[in-house]
Formats: sequence, structure tokens, C-alpha cells
Amino acid sequence: MGRLFGTNGVRGVVNKDLTTEVVLNLAAAAGSLLGEKIAVGMDGRTSSPMLKDAAVSGLLSVGCTVHDTGTLPTPTLQHAVKSLSLDGGIMVTASHNPPQFNGMKVVAGDGVEASRQMEAEIEELYFGGGPPLRPWNGIGRTTKLEALEAYKEAVLSHVERETLREARLRVALDPGNGVASLAAPAVAEDLGCAVSTINAEIDGRFPGRESEPRPDNLDGIRALVKASGADVGVAFDGDGDRAIFVDERGEVHWGDRSFALVAKDFLARNPGEAVATPVSSSRMIEDVVEAGGGKVVWTRVGSVDVSRLMVAEGIRLGGEENGGIMYGPHQSVRDGAMTMALVLGIMAAEEKPLSALLAELPEYAQMKDRVPCPEKLKLKALEALRGSVEAPRVETVDGLKLWYPDGSWILIRPSGTEPIFRLYAEARKKGRVAALVEEHKKLVEEVVGSLG
Ligand code: MG
Repeated sequence: MGRLFGTNGVRGVVNKDLTTEVVLNLAAAAGSLLGEKIAVGMDGRTSSPMLKDAAVSGLLSVGCTVHDTGTLPTPTLQHAVKSLSLDGGIMVTASHNPPQFNGMKVVAGDGVEASRQMEAEIEELYFGGGPPLRPWNGIGRTTKLEALEAYKEAVLSHVERETLREARLRVALDPGNGVASLAAPAVAEDLGCAVSTINAEIDGRFPGRESEPRPDNLDGIRALVKASGADVGVAFDGDGDRAIFVDERGEVHWGDRSFALVAKDFLARNPGEAVATPVSSSRMIEDVVEAGGGKVVWTRVGSVDVSRLMVAEGIRLGGEENGGIMYGPHQSVRDGAMTMALVLGIMAAEEKPLSALLAELPEYAQMKDRVPCPEKLKLKALEALRGSVEAPRVETVDGLKLWYPDGSWILIRPSGTEPIFRLYAEARKKGRVAALVEEHKKLVEEVVGSLG
């Protein structure tokens, strides 16, 4: 194994690249850097109890006190770390990956995923032979920690409970056999909603649907919304930090639309505030934030980058197009149940169907494409591209994003995982976005060709 941490934590196929040994040694390295009091939790995968025990062993071997939270959503563990002033946390989860995968998310003392800097330090220690192990009388101990009740109360405290209870919304939920089952239905019920569920039993084989909620695998919740006459459907990913919404007509809306809805409401309540989102996000976000007198702060692609920037700059709202919303007044990390509660709160306050609320948002045509590029040429190609294009507005925090006067934009970004450049573009009209992609695809191909 080379680098262990990917975009969000460590992931691998269980007992192949991700063994108990890897998890034990990684947890020992992480624990020795994080501090003394460490919360440990796990998702509902078949391999999670085995790997959680390995993580606990690693932490005890370097003298940590382990607060074992058992099975819970990732944001619940993160909330426990921050609210109880622990020194860090380890979540055994592979988020939305298929069932043969598992992984680890390392949480720092502020409840947010470890910084890129800390990830590098953990890796250095791991590959450098590991931290010193404690003698018999310095080994840590384990205590049990019940984290769910305090977490649910925290989520509820950030919405208008009375307004919601009066609205009596009908809500259909699809936790996808993941750990969102433990929080989201109870939160919705406490908000006075009539809740119906599908795939709400935790099952690490994910028999109901794939663990990543996408428009093409949500037929179950769409049907449930219609059959139960629900006002809204919400589908969660495997570890409960992302939420995707289905309107009352059974139509799935991608996460950029729900994020824009939340951002619009946030700016109405907090005029002029900044909102953080990756450079790949829709113009829609910028439109609603600017209409509220605020500004968008662009980040690198990846939820950890958004969360860490929020903490560093005191930004109170962040989000990604995949349904991960970070609501700072609660915590600066993605949180599926919090996202659900925020959207339910908007629906109750506005007294409008979700489809109508989303129809008020600006519409853009989107297009994605890719250009092959050998790993070793990526940086050179990016530099050459930066030198050869001209646009009235340019952002280089991750790849190269170009805005044009008609509101269209294109992002040219080297993939972190594949030998390709990814192209993302948006414009008001389909024809324009297609032309934009065609023109820049040709340019990237020329630049890569000239270097190779
Ligand atoms: Mg996740």
C-alpha cells in the first residue's frame, strides 16, 4: 500500500487490502497523535465488529482510553467527540461503498475529519514502524458511551420544533439498510412527522439497494412516497452523512438542489454570510448565496476540504452536490439527519410542496466529460492549460475553473484516483454547455498530446 487516506478516510476490500492488522496499526498511529480520550464507532457492515475490535486494540496498545459507542451514524460519533471534548474518534466505515469494502474515518478533537496534514502524519508514523507501545501498566481501558440520544436532541435543537409539529408532514425514509436507521426515523417522529420507511433494518449486505443513493437506484423510496402519499422522501448513504431528497411526486432531486434550497433559507436567516462548497458545485449555489448578499468560498473537491475550511474561516454553512451538507451551528461536518431536519423545517415554514420550493431555484444545463492523461503529465498539463486559456474570471483552488460573461462555466480538474482530467460544465442552455465542453475537451487533448 502507498498512501492510505483517500478523499475521505481509508477504504479497502476487507481481508484483502483492509485487514485487522492494517486497522490495528493505523488506529495505534492515529491514537498516539490524537490524544488520550478516543471515541470508537462502527457502521452496520458485516466486517465492522471485527475491524472495530482491531481499532480498539490498537488504541489501547498506545494507552488511549476508548469510549466505545457501538453501531451509529458517522455524524453521531463526530458530535460525541466534540460535545464531550474528547481528543478524537475513529469510525469504522466505508460510507457508501459496496459491502465487500470497509474503512476508517479519523476524527480530530473538534469533531471534524482529521486534516490532510494530520493524515500525512498518521501515514508517516504507520509506515515508519508505528508508535511506541505502552508497557503492561500503561495500556488503556475501554468504557461504553451512549451517543445517540444527545445527538438526536442536538439535531432537534436546530429547527423550529413547534412549527414542524403543527405541519404534521408525512415523511418516507430510506436508510438503505445503513446506520441512518438509528437516527433519522426517530428525529422525524420527534418532529411530529408521520414516518414510513423502506430498507430501515441495518444489514451489512445492503439487500435493499446500493449503499450510495443515486437517482437510478431509488425506485423503492419513490414508490413508497407515492403509495404512502408522503410530502417528501429522504434516502441516506451507508454511514448516514449524506441525504438525497424525493419530492411529493416521486421525483429524485440531486444534492446540489437540496443544498441550494438550504443555502437560500440560511442566507434569508443570516444575510451576508459566506458559504463553502467545492469548485465543482453548481452555479445555482452562487446564485442563491449572492441573492442573499453572501458570497461563495470555493474549496478543493472533497468533504474534508469543505469542513476544514469552514472551521478555519468560521464559515457556518457548507455543502457538496452529492447530498452532504455541513450545518455549522450544529457541526461543521456532513450530517444526513441534520440535513433532513433542515429541509423539513423549510417545508413546514414555507407551507409549500417540496417540488414547488425546488422549482423556485435557478435551472442550469450540466455536462460532464473526461480526457485521458497519464498520471505523470497531470501537473504539467494543468500548468500549460492555466497559461493558455483566458476567461474574465478564473479559480485555481482545484484544477482550473473558468467563468464566462453569459453565466456559463467549466472546470478542468485532474482526477485524484484515475489517469484522467475531469471536465464539468454548466450553462443556461444545453447547446452552450455542449459547445463549452467540446471546445475545452479539444484544448485539453491538444495540451496532453503536446506533452506526451
Ligand atoms: Mg458517507
